[in-house]
Amino acid sequence: MPLGEFELISRYFNRRSSRGDVVLGVGDDAALLQVPPGKLLVAATDTLVEGRHFLSGTAPEAIGHQALAVNLSDMAAMGAEPAWALMSLSTPVADERWLEGFAEGLYSLAERYDVALVGGDTVRGPLVVTIEVLGFVEPGLALRRDGACPGDALYVSGWPGEAAAGLEILKSAQSSSAADASLSEPQRGLVHRFLHPEPRVALGRALRGRATSAMDVSDGLLGDLAKLCAASQCGARVDLDRLPVSPALLAAAGQQRAESLLLQGGDDYELLFTLPPDRADELESVLGDTCPVHRLGTIEPDRGLRGARHGVEEKLPGAGFDHFA
Ligand code: ADP
Ligand code: MG
Repeated sequence: MPLGEFELISRYFNRRSSRGDVVLGVGDDAALLQVPPGKLLVAATDTLVEGRHFLSGTAPEAIGHQALAVNLSDMAAMGAEPAWALMSLSTPVADERWLEGFAEGLYSLAERYDVALVGGDTVRGPLVVTIEVLGFVEPGLALRRDGACPGDALYVSGWPGEAAAGLEILKSAQSSSAADASLSEPQRGLVHRFLHPEPRVALGRALRGRATSAMDVSDGLLGDLAKLCAASQCGARVDLDRLPVSPALLAAAGQQRAESLLLQGGDDYELLFTLPPDRADELESVLGDTCPVHRLGTIEPDRGLRGARHGVEEKLPGAGFDHFA
């Protein structure tokens, strides 16, 4: 007995949320949402396409997680409090096992961040998931890309490059699962980082009112840094001797390849941000152990990106297509 569209929605995408600001959620023509007075509404959307953003055969639970995580990462990068999500799901078949796994991945992340799924659309078609997330921020406290100043310290959270290494491992392994028995423990950790990015919402919150600029790293650290610098009309020096190469990344890729995955690989969903130099200690005490952050370099007045290793200038990889400078 095939699952109809309306039964599909009510069975998998109609979990109650405890949020008091959802006046009307899934079920009507549109959701009714109470925006807190005095706050700015923050809106972002991101689409995942099978074969482009995730490999065919990826566990549905991971797809559900990723689809929301990439949007929560945009909220984190703005310093916003995520609140609500809408989801457009295009799927070739209404497979119950798949839907159950997908909904599980989606809701377990949504519940951790108190995000309510308040509506969406469901259609038959190629596997494509589009989520829109809405959140709030105090006017004047949003983290933007255009506020970096020469002299600011440049930071990145976590362990960029691990997700890209995880994707390479998945592509060369036979299965699209972190549980693949042929993988070593550190390799599984890298695959997990690719399949289950953790949005840096708490870090975004801690950076509000402290960072001069921020963005999330989704398309590769250097390319995204170039965007931040272009928006802020400045440049940056990257200290190649300080790159946070994690032990797992080093073991999987070796130093040289690890550095290029870190600087150019995608899908990190870490935050890149700038702080006035005298705010660094304060941030470290505010963060406690919520999230590791690493000093990466310094914002400079001259446009473009430069590399240095132990104070000696060194060409950055990919600097050839420096059309942002
Ligand atoms: P309409 O007839 O207005 O297009 P739909 O039949 O598309 O409404 O959807 C019915 C209800 O289910 C709406 O409230 C819609 O927001 C919600 N909905 C549809 N698909 C999804 C989904 N994938 N996730 C969450 N809510 C959904
Ligand atoms: Mg509709």
